[in-house]
Amino acid sequence: MPRAPQSFDVLIIGAGPSGAAAAMTARRAGLSTALIDKAAFPRAKLCGGLVTGRARTQYREIFGGELDPDLFQPHREIAFYADGTQLGAVERTPTLYLTMRWDMDAHLLDLALAEGVADFTGRRIDQIDTETPSVTLEDGTLLSGQILIGADGVNSAVARALFGRAFDPARIGFALEIEAPAGPASDMIRIDFDAASWGYGWRFPKTRSTTIGVGGLQTPNPDIKARLSAYRAALGNDGPCPVKGHFLPFGDFRRMPGRDRVLLAGDAAGLVDPITGEGIAHALQSGAAAGAAAAAAIASGRPHTALPRYRRALRPLHRGLRMAVCLRPLIFAPRLNPLFCHAFARSSVLKGAYLRLLAGEVEYPGLCLLVLRRLPGTALRYLKHR
Ligand SMILES: Cc1cc2nc3c(=O)[nH]c(=O)nc-3n(C[C@H](O)[C@H](O)[C@H](O)COP(=O)(O)OP(=O)(O)OC[C@H]3O[C@@H](n4cnc5c(N)ncnc54)[C@H](O)[C@@H]3O)c2cc1C
Repeated sequence: MPRAPQSFDVLIIGAGPSGAAAAMTARRAGLSTALIDKAAFPRAKLCGGLVTGRARTQYREIFGGELDPDLFQPHREIAFYADGTQLGAVERTPTLYLTMRWDMDAHLLDLALAEGVADFTGRRIDQIDTETPSVTLEDGTLLSGQILIGADGVNSAVARALFGRAFDPARIGFALEIEAPAGPASDMIRIDFDAASWGYGWRFPKTRSTTIGVGGLQTPNPDIKARLSAYRAALGNDGPCPVKGHFLPFGDFRRMPGRDRVLLAGDAAGLVDPITGEGIAHALQSGAAAGAAAAAAIASGRPHTALPRYRRALRPLHRGLRMAVCLRPLIFAPRLNPLFCHAFARSSVLKGAYLRLLAGEVEYPGLCLLVLRRLPGTALRYLKHR
């Protein structure tokens, strides 16, 4: 005999940052909320673990309180490189934080569970029905909801159930990372703009390890393993380390983030910044927006209005990502990248703008205006210099 379903207002698949933010927001709005993840937490998630000022603002708004310095180590220095040459080091940046996702995601989940979210982590899913919507777990447990939020990452099973595939393989990004032994205390956060095509490399010095990675659009980087090896050699890192890879929805967001009573959030909705590669802040923001849209729709007695409400809430984020996609060739296209690096090395305004973008103090419309204003002069100076 089929089991009777356990009914909730909202079902959320995926307990990463977007799922935890959705769960916290929905629960705080008074909804009965189930959070499902195939992994038991803490669990590994490949990620640089750079938490920006933008992400910190989201964290404060959604979860309340400040970032715990035991989990999020503050840094205020960053160095930018291209072709092995330093383009500049900035001290006293707006604070950046480094974390391990193993710790951060378990922390966010704990906060959501403490709010009364029903815990279905460590439980594998057998079937997702996006029509009803409902979820059958592998042990036969049936969960039903008025609204389903797919927060299940770049390879989202919910997106596949809705649209046939989770992402467009021609437009997806890919990144490789290693966790190397911790380096000297003097190591700064380091970004190398040419470590990958249409992407970059990073070295993030943490308390117990150093995360080193390269990532960018997948198609122009068929040699990404060789890129990582070259980058490690340039950093003087050659010890044996397992190399891990993961897709990154790097500028290919879903214009329609769901269907009917199903919403997609975070990487499942493709919300990674196409220039900085930042995904945590947008995962938190979109997860919270999905939770809030679900709450408002259910309160109005019209759960099917959750998607248009959610889409409206995402408009500024979508507009910024569209602009970032337009701006991206100026930074990453092989012909223009030397011009960008030349300008970046000489301009404290550009470096400041990049950091203010990470801090959430400036958005892409403002950044585009700044770049357009400076472009003619920069191009002239570059041509004279060659
Ligand atoms: C190499 C790399 C480095 C990165 N570095 C940074 C960085 O430094 N800073 C930054 O801001 N962003 C970074 N990002 C991006 C960032 O990791 C993502 O944008 C962010 O994790 C998205 O959060 P999410 O909650 O949407 O998805 P995820 O964090 O991927 O969480 C999805 C959850 O869904 C669960 N799940 C998946 N499928 C199923 C299923 N079928 N059933 C049940 N559960 C399921 C998973 O177990 C997981 O817990 C990086 C990404 C990569 C690949």
